[in-house]
Amino acid sequence: MQRVFVKLAVVAACLSAAGAPLHADNRTAPKGPGEDGTKPALTRIAGEGMMNSHAFGFLTELSDDIGGRVTGTPAERKAEEWGAAKMKSIGLENVHTEKYTIWRGWTRGSAEGEILAPVRHKLHVDAMGWTGSTPASGAEGDVVTVNMFDIESEIKHVSRLKGKVVLVTTKGKPAKDETNLFALFGDFLKAAGPAGAIAVIGGQGGGKSTGMNLTHTGILGFNADFAVPVLSMSAEDQGQLERFLERGMTPRVRFNVQNTFTNGPVETANVVGEIRGREHPEEILVVGGHLDSWDLSEGTTDNGSGAAATLGAAEAIMRSGQRPRRTIRFVLFTGEEEGLDGSFAYMKQHQTEMKNHLGSLVIDGGQGPAKRFHLGGRDDLVSVFQPFADTLSNLGASDVDDRVESGTDTLPFSMAGLPGIDMGQESPDYKYTHHSAADALEAQKPDVLAQNATLMALAAFWIADRPERFASPWPPERTARMLRAQHEYEELKAFNLWPFGDLGVDEKKDNPQN
Ligand SMILES: [Zn+2]
Repeated sequence: MQRVFVKLAVVAACLSAAGAPLHADNRTAPKGPGEDGTKPALTRIAGEGMMNSHAFGFLTELSDDIGGRVTGTPAERKAEEWGAAKMKSIGLENVHTEKYTIWRGWTRGSAEGEILAPVRHKLHVDAMGWTGSTPASGAEGDVVTVNMFDIESEIKHVSRLKGKVVLVTTKGKPAKDETNLFALFGDFLKAAGPAGAIAVIGGQGGGKSTGMNLTHTGILGFNADFAVPVLSMSAEDQGQLERFLERGMTPRVRFNVQNTFTNGPVETANVVGEIRGREHPEEILVVGGHLDSWDLSEGTTDNGSGAAATLGAAEAIMRSGQRPRRTIRFVLFTGEEEGLDGSFAYMKQHQTEMKNHLGSLVIDGGQGPAKRFHLGGRDDLVSVFQPFADTLSNLGASDVDDRVESGTDTLPFSMAGLPGIDMGQESPDYKYTHHSAADALEAQKPDVLAQNATLMALAAFWIADRPERFASPWPPERTARMLRAQHEYEELKAFNLWPFGDLGVDEKKDNPQN
């Protein structure tokens, strides 16, 4: 997903970059692989991961032979079958799918646009996910702007949008923080359709497209659908519309957008396979990426690369012949792009064994090399994990912090008080490939993917195999306090996902009178 929240995440990263001090109750200094007995197994796994890895082969099949795989569509079902078959061929145990439903299915049809005045040419547009259609023959209208930074008052004046095409702009200073504006944008879209707006030009988070002549699709909330067509437009076309409007002209445009919703929920499934633990098979580390994608291209970097890295990690461990103390459960999640639906479904389906979970390790940051591990809120584990990460310094992946990543399947684990570990990647080109027509196999370098798969295998095996249990869930009060401190409360509250009520409120800070 990783939509509008990127900026917020950067803030959180800065706050936590200093890491956590050693707690006074740590009786013994944390041990790395050199001291805790895991090194011989890890060096074998590293060798298998870097030599003759099939990770890029997995990614090629997923990208070229299956391609774009929107949750609940036939292509996504095919990806589930493919993922299960790969897990079996790698030799994982207990391979199966875990079905669940998402609220509604959606299929992209076509999106055509044209500017009719003051000049005439084709407009490059694509529909945002889970948004609606124009009449079958299309519709034309004058372009008017709404200010995303003052979207609350735009909702009040929505009747002026009847018969108009709405262009989302940002003027002045934001009236609220970005998360709340994005949540209110959903309310605006809900009002704009019935008010008679023809279409809304506003891409990810209501913002403009990045890159040359690219559009970027995506969802506009958690499990959010809108009857009004919402379009991502190339920056060049949108810029021209803005310049005409700034000169006091009224551009006239025509759109024909056709998408299909299902009437009710649609079935999908997470794909699961395990390496069972040799001593504590009931204790589980989840390792995964998401299998679903958007559909303007092949879904390579979001998140075919993560799915392939997960399978590559499983393969490296299986080939090494090493069995960890505890179970590593590989999960290819679906429904991530619609609102982390697969990982939330996993938490529900495995609620009774959550106390036995050690955490999750997820990769979903595009095509670049993994550089750091974000421990998903668990500041107590930074010093525990650091000696392991130090052994990866020559691979450039030794940075550790406690940041929560809310834009992917790590979030539900962090909300359960577990380390939802995100492998932080350096992917400068991701802003172009993210949800766009450029998200194809060309974007992924095979050597980078093999290294990411190897790093994932090493981290997974070390966590699962070290003599002491890596982590147990925090109680809700401590989790709530951590999520507030990391500024996750605002987003979760805005999207009705905050489950903790008043837990974790800092009495002194929040009620200075008391
Ligand atoms: Zn993703």
